[in-house]
Amino acid sequence: MTDKTHQTRMANKKAVMDARIAKATEERGVLILLKGNGKGKSSSAFGTMARSLGHGKKCAVIQFIKGRTETGEYKLFKDQPLLDWHVMGHGFTWETQDKTQDIAAAQKAWQLAENLLLDESYDMLIFDELSYMFKYEYLDVQPVVEAIKARPTMQNVIITGRTMALPLQEIADTISIVQDEKHAFRQGVKAQKGIEY
Ligand code: ATP
Ligand code: MG
Repeated sequence: MTDKTHQTRMANKKAVMDARIAKATEERGVLILLKGNGKGKSSSAFGTMARSLGHGKKCAVIQFIKGRTETGEYKLFKDQPLLDWHVMGHGFTWETQDKTQDIAAAQKAWQLAENLLLDESYDMLIFDELSYMFKYEYLDVQPVVEAIKARPTMQNVIITGRTMALPLQEIADTISIVQDEKHAFRQGVKAQKGIEY
């Protein structure tokens, strides 16, 4: 490609990009869904939260399923003055094997989430693994959809989980699928501190 052709192509591309940027003028909070069976959903959510915290924005995390207690992200973020971190679930559902206890934990976590969705002092809420609550029918999706729709205008919400309920996908602004192509675990590599937790 000649320098001239490259320059013309880039100028055209810039015009297209500038037009797109000029069109996106709305300022409001967004609902982001991070789904799929690959690795990177929760870490992406916490990465975005680091951005918000860096700008001095108030954030909260609710973990609907408690995996490991002392994750690196928890250790790093727990002392942040602008962040509330709530671990509400009590274990993986196939580990606890107690449906009544799981439903009670899910409802308690949701009550907290509902209150945060009414509180405009929070700029970002992360509902980690919320999607499993619908898959296992621990929570009804409709009240969750209504509460998210009625949240303060500037509040951002990020939900993670391998599968996502369709009504949530319908109201989402951004949906990213993290697809599993390869994972070290299947090659016999143990879950590692700093990578998995
Ligand atoms: P991460 O927290 O690393 O961003 P995730 O949120 O996308 O992962 P989850 O479905 O929440 O993934 O899985 C929880 C744990 O399983 C994490 O420690 C994660 O690193 C690991 N994991 C994620 N995807 C896979 C996979 N395809 N195979 C094996 N382990 C996985
Ligand atoms: Mg996760």
